[in-house]
Amino acid sequence: MIMENSINPYKKIKKRWFILMVFFLLLCLSRLGYGEGLGSPMATDHIKAIARHAQSLDIIWILISAFLIFFMQGGFTLVEVGFSRAKNAGNIVMKNLSDFTVGSLAFLLIGYGIMFGVSKFGLFGTSDFFLSHMKIGEGINNWMFANLIFQVVFAGTAATIVSGAMAERTKFIGYLVYSLVVSSLIYPVVGHWIWGGGWLAKLGMMDFAGATVVHSLGGWVSLAGIIVLGPRIGRFDRKGRPIHIPGHNIPLVSLGVFIMWLGWFGFNTGSVLSGNNPSIALIAINTILSAVSGSIAIMIYSWFTKGKPDVGLTLNGVLAGLVTSTATSALVDPFSSILIGAMGGIVLGLSLKLFERLRLDDAVGAISVHGVNGIWGTLAAGLFSQEQFSRNSMGIAYQGLFFGGGIKSPAIQMVGILAVFAWSFGVALTVFYLIHKTIGLRVSVEEEIRGLDYSEHMMSSYPMFDEFQKKQELIFNELKRVRELSALHEISRSMHSLNLDEILQLILKGVTHSIGFDRARLYLVNEQEKVLECRMAVGIDQEMIPLITLPLDKKKSIIARVVSDKRAFVIQDAMHDPRVNFELKKLFNLKSFVAVPLQGRDRIMGAISADYIFKDKIITKEKIESLITFANQAGLALENAKLYNELKLFNEELEERVKRATEDLKKTQEQLIQSSRLSALGQLSAGVAHEIRNPLTSIRVLIHSLKERLSGEDMRKEDIAVIENEIERINQIIKQFLDFARPSQPKKETLDVNGLLEDTLLLISHELKEHDIHIERSFFSIPAVSADRDQIRQVFLNLILNAMQAMSDGGRLVISTCVHENEVRIDFKDEGDGIPEPIRKKLFEPFFTTKEEGIGLGLSITKRIIDAHRGRIIVESVEGKGSLFVITLPLT
Ligand code: ADP
Repeated sequence: MIMENSINPYKKIKKRWFILMVFFLLLCLSRLGYGEGLGSPMATDHIKAIARHAQSLDIIWILISAFLIFFMQGGFTLVEVGFSRAKNAGNIVMKNLSDFTVGSLAFLLIGYGIMFGVSKFGLFGTSDFFLSHMKIGEGINNWMFANLIFQVVFAGTAATIVSGAMAERTKFIGYLVYSLVVSSLIYPVVGHWIWGGGWLAKLGMMDFAGATVVHSLGGWVSLAGIIVLGPRIGRFDRKGRPIHIPGHNIPLVSLGVFIMWLGWFGFNTGSVLSGNNPSIALIAINTILSAVSGSIAIMIYSWFTKGKPDVGLTLNGVLAGLVTSTATSALVDPFSSILIGAMGGIVLGLSLKLFERLRLDDAVGAISVHGVNGIWGTLAAGLFSQEQFSRNSMGIAYQGLFFGGGIKSPAIQMVGILAVFAWSFGVALTVFYLIHKTIGLRVSVEEEIRGLDYSEHMMSSYPMFDEFQKKQELIFNELKRVRELSALHEISRSMHSLNLDEILQLILKGVTHSIGFDRARLYLVNEQEKVLECRMAVGIDQEMIPLITLPLDKKKSIIARVVSDKRAFVIQDAMHDPRVNFELKKLFNLKSFVAVPLQGRDRIMGAISADYIFKDKIITKEKIESLITFANQAGLALENAKLYNELKLFNEELEERVKRATEDLKKTQEQLIQSSRLSALGQLSAGVAHEIRNPLTSIRVLIHSLKERLSGEDMRKEDIAVIENEIERINQIIKQFLDFARPSQPKKETLDVNGLLEDTLLLISHELKEHDIHIERSFFSIPAVSADRDQIRQVFLNLILNAMQAMSDGGRLVISTCVHENEVRIDFKDEGDGIPEPIRKKLFEPFFTTKEEGIGLGLSITKRIIDAHRGRIIVESVEGKGSLFVITLPLT
C-alpha cells in the first residue's frame, strides 16, 4: 500500500515525459495548423488547396448553371410546340434540336474565336478558332472547359429563340443555314462587343447575363426572319385583320415555361461565373421576382383588354419578366426587380399589339418577349442599378440614373441596344433574303397547309391526328383544283389574241401545264377536205404532226365521233377499243385517253385528245370536267380567231380592189383633164389655123400671079421663091395644128410595120444623109398589125426627125422591131443629147418644145395616135448619151 502511497520516482519521470510529449505534440499540431510562418512551403500548399477547392466550387457552379441553361432548350421546344399547331410539332422539335446541334458545333469551331479571340478594333476576335486555344499538352485547364460549355449553352439559347417566331412555315433546309450563320457570326460578334472586351465593353455597357447579347439579338434576328417569310396562311384576313391561330397544347407551354424558369436560375446566377460569390442568392430572388411580377402584370393587362385573363399571355409574361431579370438581377434591389418585371409584362402586351398591327406574324411572340423586353431590361439596368449590388455581385461600381448615376449609364445602354439591333437585324435580313432567293426560306402553300411534319419530315407527331390529316388532304386537293381552274381561267382570259397559232399554243399549255396531262393533240376540222388535221401537239414528235390527218367520218375515228356527237369520250383501253384508229394506237402507244370537242358558237372547231405517259395514272373525273370546261372556252376563242382571219383576208382583198379602182379612177381623171385641155387647145388651134389659112391662100395666089408677071431674069423671083417656101412652112404648121385639133379616127388596115418603116426612111433619106445620120436596122420578122398607115407613118416620121434633131453633129439611130408578149415593139434609139429628167415628164404635153423653131406638137400627136391604136409609148434617156423611144402596138 506504502508502496502504493509513496511517490514512485519512475512515475514522476513518466509524467514529465508525458507532459513534454503532449506539449511537443501540441507544438507540432500548432505548427501544423497555423503556427507556421506564411512563407513556409506548408502554408503555400494550404493556400493552394483552398484555391483549388474554391475553383472546384466555381467550376461546379458554372457546370450546374450550364446544365440548367441547357435544359432551357427543352423548355423552349415545349413552349414553341405548344403554341403552334399539331401538324408542325415534329418540325419545331427538329428546328430546336438543330439550333443546338448545328449551332453548338459552329460556335465551338468558329464563333468562339470571333467572340473571345484577340480583338481587332474592338469589333471581332481573330484567334482561338477550331478550339486552337485548348492546349492540353500544357496541363489540363478544367476552368477553360467549364467556361466553354457555359458559352456553348448561351449561344444555343440565342439561336433557338428564332425558331418560335418563324414557326409553321419555314423550310427546314433554309433554317439550317440560318442556324450556322447565327451561331458562327451574328451572335459571336455581338458577344465580342459586350463580353469579349470589344468596343461596347470599353464604352461601359452593362449586359450582365445577356438581355441584349442573347435575347434582343434573338428577337431582332426573328424580326428579320418573319419579314422575309411573311405571315402564316390564315393569320390575317383579306382586309388585314388579325385572326388568332391557337396553339395545340397549353399544358406543354406551361411545362416549357417552368423548365425555362428553372433554367433561368442558371442563366442569371451562373453569369457571375463563381460558386463562391454569395450574390447568387440575391440574383436568384431577383430572378423569381421579375418573373412573377411580369406574369401578374400581363395577366391583369389581358383581363382588362380582353375581358378574361389570357393563359398564353400569362405564361409568356413569366418569360418577359425573366428576360428583364437577365439584365438587372445582379444589379438591383428586389423591389426594383418587381417593378422592372411588371413593366416587362406591360411591354409584352403593347409590343404584341404593335406587331399585330404591322401584320408581322410572330408565331409564339418571341420578338416581344425576347427582343423588346431585352431592350427594356438593358435600359432598366442603366436606370435602376445600385452600386452596392454591382460591387457585391461583380466587384465593380455601376450606378443607374434613378440612384444618382446620371444619364450616362442609360445613354451608353441605348448606344449598345441600337448597335446590336443594326448589326443583328441587318445581317439576318440579308442572310434570310439570300436564303429566300436561293434554296428558299418558305415552304409551298400546299406544304404549309399539309403541315411541316408531313411535308418536311414525312411523319406525324401525333398519329392520332391522321384523321385530321385526311381532312387537310381534302382541303389540299380542293386547293389544287382551285389553282388548276384559276390557271385555266387565266389562260382563257389571255385568249383574246386573234392569232390562231397563239391560241392553239395557249390551249395546249392549259391542257398540259394547268390541267396536268402529259400529252395533248389538237385537231381542227377541214370542211373542204372532210378531214381532221392535227395542228399542234405536246408530248409527241413534232415532225409527225403534219402527218396526222383523220377522216371526218365517225365510223372511222373516235375523234371524228367526238366532233359529230359534240361530246367528250373517255377511252379506258384504247388498244382493245375498236372505235379508236389503228394508226393512232400504234403512233402514240395509247392506253387510256380523253377526247373533248372544241365547240364554237355555231360550229365545231375541232377536238382535243389528252392522256398520260405513265399508263397507270388514272384520268380522274375532276380532270375530265376541267378539260371539258376549258375546251368550251377554247372553242369560242378559236372560232373568234378563225372568223377574224377570214374577215382579215376579205378585208385585204377589198382593200386591194379599192386601191386598184382608185388608181384607175385617177388615170381616167388625168386622161379626162388632158383631153379636155387638149380639146380646148384643139378648138383654139383650129380657129387660129382657119383664120390664118384664108389670108394665107390669098397671099399664095397673089404671090403666084406676081411671080407670073415677073420676067424670067428678074432677081426678085428668088425673093418670091423664099416667100413661097415660108408660106409652105406656115402651111405645114397649120396642117399640124389642124391634125392636132381634129384628130381623125384611125382607118385601120393590115399593116406591115417593117415595110412602112422602110418607106418612111426612104422618104427622108435625103435629109438624114444631109445631117450625117446613120440608120442601123434590126428588123425581126413580125406579123402584120391592124393600124392606120398614114397615122403610123406620121409617128415614125416624128420620132426619126426628133432623133435626127437631137444628134446635131450626126450619129447613129438604131431602129429595131420585134414581137414581145402579143405586141409589136418598135425601138428608136439615138445617140443624141438625151432628155433631162424634169423635161421627160412634159414631153407629151402639147406645145412643149425646147427647140427654137419647134411647135411642140410632134410627140403629143404621136402619143394620141398610139393611144388610139391601144398601144403604148415609153421613153428612156440618159443625159448626154441618147434616148430610146419604144412604141408597142397590139397584135390582136
Ligand atoms: P418639137 O419637135 O416641135 O419640139 P415634139 O413634141 O416633137 O416637138 O418634141 C418635144 C420636145 O421633146 C422637143 O423639143 C425635145 O426637147 C424633146 N425631144 C423629142 N425627141 C427627142 C429626142 N430623140 N432626143 C432629145 N430630145 C427629144
